[in-house]
Amino acid sequence: MARIPHVIGGEKVEAGERYQAVFNPATGEAQHELGIASVETVEQAIAAAQAALPMWRKTSLTKRADVFFNLRQLLKQRTPELAAIVTSEHGKVLSDAAGEIARGLENVEFASGLLHLLKGERDEQVSTGVDVHSIKQPVGVVAAITPFNFPVMVPLWMIASAIACGNTVVLKPSERDPSASVFIADLFREAGLPDGVLNVVHGDKVAVDTLLDSRDVKAISFVGSTPIAKYIYERAAANGKRVQALGGAKNHMIVMPDADLNMSADAAVSAAYGSAGERCMAVSVVVAVGDIADELVGKIADRIKDLKIGDGTDPASEMGPLITKEAKERVESYVAGAAAEGATVVVDGRETEFAGNGFFTGVSLVDHVKTDSKMYLDEIFGPVLAVVRVDTYEEGVRIINEHQFGNGTAIFTRDGGVARQFEFEVEAGMVGINVPIPVPVGSFSFGGWKDSLFGDAHIYGPESINFYTRSKVVTTRWPNPDQSKVDLGFPSNS
Ligand code: NAD
Repeated sequence: MARIPHVIGGEKVEAGERYQAVFNPATGEAQHELGIASVETVEQAIAAAQAALPMWRKTSLTKRADVFFNLRQLLKQRTPELAAIVTSEHGKVLSDAAGEIARGLENVEFASGLLHLLKGERDEQVSTGVDVHSIKQPVGVVAAITPFNFPVMVPLWMIASAIACGNTVVLKPSERDPSASVFIADLFREAGLPDGVLNVVHGDKVAVDTLLDSRDVKAISFVGSTPIAKYIYERAAANGKRVQALGGAKNHMIVMPDADLNMSADAAVSAAYGSAGERCMAVSVVVAVGDIADELVGKIADRIKDLKIGDGTDPASEMGPLITKEAKERVESYVAGAAAEGATVVVDGRETEFAGNGFFTGVSLVDHVKTDSKMYLDEIFGPVLAVVRVDTYEEGVRIINEHQFGNGTAIFTRDGGVARQFEFEVEAGMVGINVPIPVPVGSFSFGGWKDSLFGDAHIYGPESINFYTRSKVVTTRWPNPDQSKVDLGFPSNS
């Protein structure tokens, strides 16, 4: 079995305190071996990033921008290859893998505009003969810690802006599907990025803790589950670092009685079951308002019948397997427990049969879900759609606002006034109006509220430029030495 290397200072390094398998979820077979980094290996990567920092900081903005223009071309040309890597380790279908690469490209395109993004401000004559200007300087070595579910897009959310701002990076991707990060590091190098600016280490808690505790790492970007996000936030903040830690989700889609029910059902099915529900912006709860619930549930159930679930490399497949056997068992346990929690299982994904040993499960639809049940409260992260029935819009918004998570949410309606009210009062970071998965385009930033994000900076887009830079304000005067005198008063402007 081939071993997946770390990338440290431009070198491919094979090292591991121990080795673990990387599976193909569609076959259930181990296909690669991954070295889990020791403290020493992570420290080498931090040292490589630290060593590259003075050179990269000094590199002109034009030369930095060139790397991103080149990278954009390379990513476009090599999309089929990279998508195949994603599908083989994550399991999502090839078209979905290409889709995540396209969304990641938006972050590369944003970073190509770094000359504009890093512009400071200048004010002339703030006091007589005194000017002030501000500049944005890199924070230093940045750590990027990423989840399994978007092995290309989420690393690009972080590393594109971090590198554009003049920082150097240690990327610690998910140990479930790590090859895409190595491929991305290779493309960055081909695009002209000097060695040591982007380093990749594979590992687990040991690697993460080494990054969190290192005095040389100045900022932490994390995306993953909520318990780990909270841990990362607290430990990094206690160590004096800036940190953004994006966590889990339970995204609600309200369907109003006036909505087009066919369009709503199409949207619910696409957003609940795409990528086997392993998206942090997946719709996992439909909130049916008023008397449309029976018809809506019927339309969703009708559409489910035709979904093709299979190996992601088969162009006919619309949905692939889950990431691990444990994930499959966990997801299915929620469906198994639904009836005891008072819900009605309309479609039971456990009944779908699959040949072979892949980590497949069928799609499930569960109606009459109670808001105090585990099915409702937990992030399931699989192809399970819960339906909660409410009488009024107000009740629907209230349950969303009371939920622990506040990542994305959506409303389906033909009433502009209701949509506007929803936008005004709903407690979530990203809102879709007749859009079920409102992931912001790369020129805006992405982030949730409540337990979906710890920290105050959203990720990628304009907020990432603030996160990855420190501002410096310079006050200047060129006085006539003849007018100089001692003055112990506090400088005031005149
Ligand atoms: P995860 O939290 O298990 O892992 C994320 C990263 O943390 C990985 O790199 C992993 O190696 C590391 N990690 C795991 N356990 C750790 C520990 N005890 N200490 C330190 N580091 C540890 O998440 P996952 O299963 O890979 O990804 C799925 C989760 O990510 C879901 O909860 C999903 O909602 C969330 N997610 C959120 C967003 C968002 O933007 N809010 C986007 C994508 C995924």
